[in-house]
Amino acid sequence: MSLLEVSGLSKTYTTRFGGAKVEALKSVTFSVESGEYVAVMGESGSGKTTLLNLLAALDRPTGGTVLLGGQNLAEIPEERAAAFRRDHLGFVFQDLSLLDTFSLDNILLPLVLQGKSRGEMKSRLVPLADRLGISGLLKKYPYEVSGGQKQRAAVARALITRPQVLFADEPTGALDSGSTEELLRLFGTVNGAGQTIVMVTHSVRAASCAGRVLFLRDGAVAQELTRGTDTETAFYRRIADALTASQTGGGAA
Ligand code: ADP
Ligand code: MG
Repeated sequence: MSLLEVSGLSKTYTTRFGGAKVEALKSVTFSVESGEYVAVMGESGSGKTTLLNLLAALDRPTGGTVLLGGQNLAEIPEERAAAFRRDHLGFVFQDLSLLDTFSLDNILLPLVLQGKSRGEMKSRLVPLADRLGISGLLKKYPYEVSGGQKQRAAVARALITRPQVLFADEPTGALDSGSTEELLRLFGTVNGAGQTIVMVTHSVRAASCAGRVLFLRDGAVAQELTRGTDTETAFYRRIADALTASQTGGGAA
């Protein structure tokens, strides 16, 4: 069984006024193996955020299922959903403002909520901070650190609970090119250590670091590319070519 199994997943929004229906996702099926690094691309409005919200149990589908480690997310009672997310999933967003208070407390917050002991927190934080290269940052306030460093602290917070999947929504969207490369290297390292990652991105460069890219179009998976033995540069070209082909109305590359 795959870590994440998405089957016939649909989401139809009904707008409040006039009751117009928007089919944001139309029977999406795919799976993600443990340890995979998957990028999701697609134009604005193609359903990326809707998909991520469903995978992360932040919203309920109108059809189909999401199984995470065999658990059907729809069967988690509403009142347990927040705890499930906290204990099993990690999130990194484009918006860095989440970390505008003291960064060490921010990183430890999920463990505080889990009721972990100080000793347990420290034994998790020290090696993780070392691995992410943020040991020197832990004594600083967010206004003292750069955007790239804040994003690394956000990754630390996402990983400290040892989530089954790390979800990222445009994690490089607010970063300059230097910090982007740093974050992508970090994701590569973390994935190399076995962390499963699902990342929504507009960036061909970011997607070229993943092992597989799903292209969403009009709420459906229009195409899928697997990196295989490609270098990042070669995979980058294939992704860019696929995007060009889809924009010019051509078929799959
Ligand atoms: P993306 O993240 O790829 O830009 P979204 O998942 O945000 O796409 O949106 C997919 C489609 O669903 C779009 O047509 C969008 O307008 C619509 N949509 C998203 N959220 C809602 C909502 N809460 N109510 C109604 N329509 C929505
Ligand atoms: Mg979106």
